[in-house]
Amino acid sequence: MDLDRTAGYIDSLDKGNSKLLNDLEVRAKQDGVPIIRRPMQSFLRTLLKVKQPSRILEIGTAVGFSALLMAENTDKTEIVTIEKFEKRYLEAKENIAASPYKDRIELIFGDALEVLDEMALRGESFDFIFMDAAKGQYPGFLEPSLKLLCRDGVLLADNVLKDGDIIESKFALTRRDRTIHKRMRDYLYQITHSDILETAILPVGDGAALSVKTV
Ligand code: SAH
Ligand code: MG
Repeated sequence: MDLDRTAGYIDSLDKGNSKLLNDLEVRAKQDGVPIIRRPMQSFLRTLLKVKQPSRILEIGTAVGFSALLMAENTDKTEIVTIEKFEKRYLEAKENIAASPYKDRIELIFGDALEVLDEMALRGESFDFIFMDAAKGQYPGFLEPSLKLLCRDGVLLADNVLKDGDIIESKFALTRRDRTIHKRMRDYLYQITHSDILETAILPVGDGAALSVKTV
């Protein structure tokens, strides 16, 4: 199967989003801000209709595109999202405030590695976690995320196959990429060999890892 042509065909079927999101997507692309790709967008929309979570935690807001997409595709769901890069946090704040979903989205400025621990100490709980931040930190996000995730909760991680880099030998990569590569492989190993998760790794967009907490 020709995966590039297949992906192009699937993209051609994509119905797109609201004007609010389409405009934000165009701006983000112009400004070089990373946002979830089209296949992940449609996967997320569909998954939210299946799961209908009551409380979502997002790690990595950027300028708020995916948080707004999640809000747009749920009814009463509360969304908490974390961003550590101040410039993006401030832009996200404006974008969320100008949206019809401002009352359902809580934006937190800070490093998720710290914020997640604080939330876990407070005994907070989520039934859906979307991990979309620095790839090299996924193993570090995992333990606190599992504390925050309730039984039957969904953990979805984006960019886990990084354009296919994950299958390359580490020798084909630069030193920085090697570290990220190793950590991403660790993450994928952990979630596929965990006693409390059922996981499917899917070649959706840049690679998605979908886990469900079974206990
Ligand atoms: N989910 C967004 C895209 C996120 S891009 C969307 O689809 O619209 C990844 C973001 O994660 C970047 O803005 C980066 O600054 C942020 N990030 C990376 N590591 C982080 C960390 N440890 N804590 C919080 N945010 C982090
Ligand atoms: Mg991403």
